[in-house]
Amino acid sequence: MPCLLRICTPLALLAFTASIASAQMAYKPASPRTLLRAGQVLDVHTGKETADETVIIEGDHIAGIAPTASTPTKPGDREIDLSGYTVLPGLIDVHTHLTMATNFDPYFELTMTPGKEAILGVENAKTTLEAGFTSVRNVGANGFTDVALRDEINAGHIPGPHMQVSGPPLGITGGHMDENLLPEQYHVVGEGVADGIPAVQHMVRQNIKYGADLIKIGASGGVLSKGDDPQASQYTLEEMQAIVADAHRLGRKVAAHAHGAQAILWASEAGVDSIEHGSYLDDAGIAMMLKHGTYLVPTAYLIDWVQQYGNLPALYQQKMKDVSAVEKQNAIKAIKAGVKVACGTDAAVYPHGLNAHELDVYVNQFGMTPLAAIQTATVNAADLMGWTAHIGSLETGKWADVIAVQGDPLHDIKVLQRVPFVMKSGVIYKDEAQPAAIDKLVATAPTHEPPISENSF
Ligand SMILES: [Zn+2]
Repeated sequence: MPCLLRICTPLALLAFTASIASAQMAYKPASPRTLLRAGQVLDVHTGKETADETVIIEGDHIAGIAPTASTPTKPGDREIDLSGYTVLPGLIDVHTHLTMATNFDPYFELTMTPGKEAILGVENAKTTLEAGFTSVRNVGANGFTDVALRDEINAGHIPGPHMQVSGPPLGITGGHMDENLLPEQYHVVGEGVADGIPAVQHMVRQNIKYGADLIKIGASGGVLSKGDDPQASQYTLEEMQAIVADAHRLGRKVAAHAHGAQAILWASEAGVDSIEHGSYLDDAGIAMMLKHGTYLVPTAYLIDWVQQYGNLPALYQQKMKDVSAVEKQNAIKAIKAGVKVACGTDAAVYPHGLNAHELDVYVNQFGMTPLAAIQTATVNAADLMGWTAHIGSLETGKWADVIAVQGDPLHDIKVLQRVPFVMKSGVIYKDEAQPAAIDKLVATAPTHEPPISENSF
């Protein structure tokens, strides 16, 4: 075939593809096989802790777990000494906002742009990963900045947890997911606002089109929004049924922000997969959640943090006070009744990286055993995300998402608040004892071959 450009010689083509290849950088494991020599390994299913075990990592997954005595090093292996630590699966937070910052100033909110969100996301993703959270659901972001963040993390260009992202959360006009700070003349509308069945169906499909892994909706009013009531339902039962039908048919789970009792009841009845916050959850709501297997995501530590450091503007103060007065007692009631719980924090309301404080609330205020609390951030959260095959426990074939902590989290849940070692997909992102072991950005082959042929030129 004729070549349109004189430069199109085989040699020039080779140089061109080589320059693309050299431009690819990603976090990759330093060697094909890594042996994590653990002091003890925690089985999060049973609570069994086994001493002197080795977690064998091949590439990005776990190839096996075996007694250290019977796992000799082979040539080319990388050996990591975690003999002074308890090793457990990377933690999971099913309610984060990585592209948002801790700032309650309404003017700050109005000056937020997708560009700023994306930049904040890069920083917060790293902070969250280094806190030991190797997977998150991101439930609400503007401009699909969460999609961009997820994709760049997955490409290995920036450090961060595995992400499932929602894109803009769906909500009613004037509701928690709308932007209500400005008068009508400014014509500001939240990106995910959709009223009525055809509109919510369109919004679900649009979010999926632009990369959403799950659908986030506002079933009730919220605390950090102007002019709405956390106790008032926002979407109707019928709207939520339409959302769930579309989302589930298209393979997406639905997370419902719901404070009010009726909103929780309707959302659970409609078939959402999780109730976020659940502040005014009552007996009828508990019964409905048990019947449908709906998860509760309590986001409880934020109450303590806001009370201590929050400094909320006046327009949010009373709502926060009211919600704080009931949320924990209702969560305790739900847990006692057997409602499933997945760990979610609402990180961004308080600084990213404090995520493990949520588990301390579950143990020391809700009365969970430390193992049950750890399960909310491992096996339960993995189940809610539909990722049980990949994350939530240290098992052969799962992604190599591993953390190590000093001490025993089954005796003191607070040790999870300081995580000195973090591996995600076989890449070491943090190792305080051996900083030299941390994997660096390395040049890699392009993930997709550039579509170059003689005909292209
Ligand atoms: Zn939230």
